[in-house]
Amino acid sequence: MPQMVPDTPENGEICKKFCGPCPTFMPNKLNESPPMMLFCSRGASTVPKEQIKDNGCSCFGCGVFSKYELEGGWFCIYGKEGKKT
Ligand code: SF4
Ligand code: SF4
Repeated sequence: MPQMVPDTPENGEICKKFCGPCPTFMPNKLNESPPMMLFCSRGASTVPKEQIKDNGCSCFGCGVFSKYELEGGWFCIYGKEGKKT
């Protein structure tokens, strides 16, 4: 079961290593709009989902993803619950 992800500096540091180089992150300038990162904790980007070009998601290798038993990925687009399959 997915658990709530705390918005901590530690989780932010981990997120930076995965969302940062993700092919969806920089090309869509997700770093320039709130909540900037840690989407699995903070929710979807305020960039409208229809404006985000999906180039793949790097969440699946992230330690936060495994620690909190997250599912779905693409939290920047779909919010905390991630992409439904
Ligand atoms: S699971 Fe994704 S959004 Fe959450 S911390 Fe990791 S890279 Fe960032
Ligand atoms: S949540 Fe997933 S798709 Fe979105 S920027 Fe982070 S790694 Fe990329």
